[in-house]
Amino acid sequence: MAKINGNEVEFDQKELQAAWDKAIVLENADPNVMKMCYVCKYHMLKENYFNFEKPDTLQWYVDLIDTTLKDLFVINNLIAIHNVCLEFRKKKNATKRIEKIRKVKWNFDEEFHQ
Ligand SMILES: [Zn+2]
Repeated sequence: MAKINGNEVEFDQKELQAAWDKAIVLENADPNVMKMCYVCKYHMLKENYFNFEKPDTLQWYVDLIDTTLKDLFVINNLIAIHNVCLEFRKKKNATKRIEKIRKVKWNFDEEFHQ
């Protein structure tokens, strides 16, 4: 279960995996390696989980899809996004926004990122 530690929330492996699984799939990338951030549409690498000591813009963290829920840390409410994108989410409940994005096919632009 998620532990709140000051301003940080420490998620357990099960929660991290659930959040990762919820993140948007890139059609041409292995979902166990790479997913897409629903806020900025830029990719995230699974191995690049948020490191409090060495923060980096492409690191991912866990976002709460619906911030109006009573039980915020319920497993279905977790989604991986960039740590830096947490402040750019707009509505209190991002469910509709995420479902809309999920309907589109997304591809990782290999040429752009070479
Ligand atoms: Zn992002």
